[in-house]
Amino acid sequence: MCGVTGIFAPGRDAARLAYFALYALQHRGQESAGIAAADGDTLRSHKKMGLLGAIFDEEVLGELSGHIAIGHTRYSTTGSSAVVNAQPLLEDTAIGTFAFAHNGNLTNTDELRDGLPPTAVLLASSDTEVLGKALAAASGTMMDRIASVIGQARGAYSIVLCTKDELYAFRDPWGVRPLCLGRFSDGGYVVASESCALLTVGAEYIREIKAGEVLRISADGIESRVVHVEGERSALCMFEYIYFARPDSSLSGRSIYMARYEMGRALAREHPVDADVVMAVPDSAVPGGIGYSAESDLPYVEGLIKNRYIGRTFISPDQKMRGRGVQLKFNPVVENLRGQRVVVVDDSIVRGTTTPRIVRLLRDAGATEVHLRITSPPIMHPCYLGVDMASYDELIAANYTVEEIRQKTGADSLGYLSLDALVASTGRKRAEMCLGCLTGVYPNVPVAHLTKQAPG
Ligand code: 5GP
Ligand code: MG
Repeated sequence: MCGVTGIFAPGRDAARLAYFALYALQHRGQESAGIAAADGDTLRSHKKMGLLGAIFDEEVLGELSGHIAIGHTRYSTTGSSAVVNAQPLLEDTAIGTFAFAHNGNLTNTDELRDGLPPTAVLLASSDTEVLGKALAAASGTMMDRIASVIGQARGAYSIVLCTKDELYAFRDPWGVRPLCLGRFSDGGYVVASESCALLTVGAEYIREIKAGEVLRISADGIESRVVHVEGERSALCMFEYIYFARPDSSLSGRSIYMARYEMGRALAREHPVDADVVMAVPDSAVPGGIGYSAESDLPYVEGLIKNRYIGRTFISPDQKMRGRGVQLKFNPVVENLRGQRVVVVDDSIVRGTTTPRIVRLLRDAGATEVHLRITSPPIMHPCYLGVDMASYDELIAANYTVEEIRQKTGADSLGYLSLDALVASTGRKRAEMCLGCLTGVYPNVPVAHLTKQAPG
């Protein structure tokens, strides 16, 4: 997934603003983080493995002076979990050095790599590095280079880029990953993966950056160019609504919290059940649980308390650790569960590792019945566009029926939200979304790619 931000704020310490914006985006990636800053003359950067708070302190931030900055928090899909793949990446070109950071996943990396000049040296293992080399190899101004790369690169990319005196932000022609623009009241701009980061740094939301749009922000002001790719459509990732985005973010004016609340209400209409209480698996399913409770008139209770200091277990690349993560993560509130018939709302079942453990935890705490309700349809297909759902093998819904999944989870009943209700809850048109993981129809993935395993 990854979180990205870009700051252009004359007279201010941009790296510090980028740091706080990244703090609001930490949920999008916990593997590594970095910031690059520019003061008009010099471009400097710092990045490391781990969480933001452990990477930056006053001293490190103090080195990153200037009124321009970009930042990144990384969640790995393509490319191994190593510091060479941490971002921002730096690239030298005939028109100077630039730093950039990427959220998404390219689907034609091999093709782009084949188009690079023989002098291009690749050090990392990521699609992002290939994209940087393509920008370096292109010709003309930075705006021209970006426009030409948008014409060639397929897949998902929301990118922030800075030179020593300008900030750029651009999105793939499908707009798969989010990216929005905000303004500081005393002048200057901020771009970020999610609107929650704008609030954190005290900026006002202006708008989404459009699919295929490049923004150039400099001392001359703000300039936009939109690159149209013939026959393509916009395709914002549905999983942003289901799970990834923070509930206090909005996408095109639609609050993620309210979208999830509506998913919960629709789920209660589609899969009602005779029960005593409704709970959600914290944190991501809470708005959905509250929506289910409102629609069903069953009281909402907290059945599990999450340890807030443990990162998202799904991020950890090792299956064994992922399994263990759940016990570290939740403790039951026995008083809310003992003797109760419980509806448990969660946002998704991906690999099917978490859910059986949760059902067991609730039964052990005294729940007499456990009714699982999921605010998404079954996740049946891999993602090629930046979510770590790599292959058919590991997706439980690709291999088992709903009844088999119910048995494996140990729940008394299992109900998934319908695709129509999910789409309706977002307030968007179905044709404007990427629903690849739910339907197997992808907007911009070359067919040859689909027969292969998705990048891990
Ligand atoms: P699984 O079925 O793979 O064991 O996990 C499903 C749970 O993981 C759900 O509770 C959901 O909230 C969470 N989840 C879904 N997608 C992601 C993801 O991309 N990253 C993380 N950290 N958790 C996820
Ligand atoms: Mg969850």
